[in-house]
Amino acid sequence: MASSAPIHGNWIAGKWVPARSARTFENRNPADVTNLVGRFADSDARDAKDAVDVAAEAYKSWRLVPGPQRGEILYRLGEILRDRKEDYARDMTREMGKVLKEARGDVQEAIDMAFLMGGEGRRLHGQTTPSELPNKFAMSVRSPIGVCAFITPWNFPMAIPAWKTTAALVCGNTVVIKPATDTPLSVVNFARALEDAGLPPGVFNVVTGSGSKVGMPLLKDPRVKVVSFTGSTAVGQTINEACAPTFKHVHLEMGGKNPILVMDDANLELAVDGAIWGAFGTSGQRCTASSRLLVHKKVVRRFTAMLAERANALKVGSGLDEKIEMGPSINESQLDTVLDYISIGKDEGAKCVAGGRRLAGKAHTKGWFVAPTVFTDCNRRMRVAREEIFGPVTSIVPITSLEEGIDIANDSDYGLSSAIFTQDVNKAFVAMRDLEAGIFYVNLPTIGAETHLPFGGVKKTGNGHREAGLAALDVFSEWKSIYVDYSGTIQKAQIDVPAGAARPPKKRT
Ligand code: NAP
Ligand code: MG
Repeated sequence: MASSAPIHGNWIAGKWVPARSARTFENRNPADVTNLVGRFADSDARDAKDAVDVAAEAYKSWRLVPGPQRGEILYRLGEILRDRKEDYARDMTREMGKVLKEARGDVQEAIDMAFLMGGEGRRLHGQTTPSELPNKFAMSVRSPIGVCAFITPWNFPMAIPAWKTTAALVCGNTVVIKPATDTPLSVVNFARALEDAGLPPGVFNVVTGSGSKVGMPLLKDPRVKVVSFTGSTAVGQTINEACAPTFKHVHLEMGGKNPILVMDDANLELAVDGAIWGAFGTSGQRCTASSRLLVHKKVVRRFTAMLAERANALKVGSGLDEKIEMGPSINESQLDTVLDYISIGKDEGAKCVAGGRRLAGKAHTKGWFVAPTVFTDCNRRMRVAREEIFGPVTSIVPITSLEEGIDIANDSDYGLSSAIFTQDVNKAFVAMRDLEAGIFYVNLPTIGAETHLPFGGVKKTGNGHREAGLAALDVFSEWKSIYVDYSGTIQKAQIDVPAGAARPPKKRT
């Protein structure tokens, strides 16, 4: 019953507290909207300020905790998440709809990040290097930056918060996170695991509520030094502008329109398998979704027929049922966006060979289900082949050569992920070199990143940083270069070059 759904507060200073407004908002299951997952604190600028107050205070001591001890807490976080993986995955499927297998993968990413960054606690390597002067020592070390504000999306409700949080914490920063309104429960669960791992109060804080009412005041707070956002390019731009006047570090991970090139020598079974997974995994709601399939014209008819057959056969429904292969769209407005794009594709003259409609069967009436949709006969100018749809829709564009495929792939505002299916190593290497993207796969679709490699994109996908991997440490630390002179004199770099160290070249006669 709706009234028995749990009520969750904000996590501030190691306590669950209601919003200052005392209001809550509902979180419902997108596969069955009669199912209320919980009520969450409907916060505003006052709650954001409370959380920053606490995070700024906690920073004073957390930054001085030795890295190995910070790492040990993250290691315990990984163990706790591993123990609770099934429960947290079920909560995630209920709140955002992805099938259980994928929700388990999402929690697993958080586990992987916790162990990766746990290990970094004993590394956080800097460089030592010789000085140009005698009796002088030179090195660089990573320093924490301060309070970090995270604004995260609903499609990877635990993995993305974990990418950001584990890297920030191991470097010695404190955190305030505002999760997406559609998926606060996974971040509440993450906070519980961090608490049980022994993280001191105030180091990690959660404030739930809308982007405009909580997110904007949070990131504008002058005490926030780093803003890390994952979401749409439109909101990313607004955030970038809001942070510019105070020169905050801003880390933006945004949209994608990710191409798979399928060459005429490809193993077509494999390519179809990859395209199904890449296009319809998480109902196409991945920033790395394979939403453009650039297929050599010699194989495009066969590829299209195989793909359409597989798409039509996908079992769509509640992700809590293990037999289901694809869940719903996240909410009604996203469903409307997807249906609008399907109409746009048809109006533009793209041929719909699978799906193309909202599902209306008995299992679908209470949720936001769209049939897996394949458009073919597309060209690069069509909106369905250019714009991010964020739903189970993919567009096939025929190509005549590798060069044309690369040209079309790069003719995009985005540059997150890319892939090629080919048996020819030469083609694979040319594509690897020339595709403009932060991620590239050979004989895999555009999804499936591993946590210990850098994640992020070029062009309007990102603004030059990377998440995950060791690259994440560069976002959450500042380099400090240190010189120690033990010569007893003031030696001047570049000027007091020791005699004989660099003889001038002989003059030509
Ligand atoms: P979104 O609408 O941009 O929302 C993302 C987050 O920003 C949410 O927490 C949202 O809060 C908040 N927000 C919205 N307006 C805001 C404002 N004016 N000020 C501050 N915060 C604001 O994106 P989404 O629909 O949740 O996610 C889908 C998008 O994310 C897609 O474009 C996808 O490509 C991208 N994405 C990118 C990556 C990547 O790594 N490149 C990964 C995943 C997703 P509310 O929930 O309250 O609106
Ligand atoms: Mg929900």
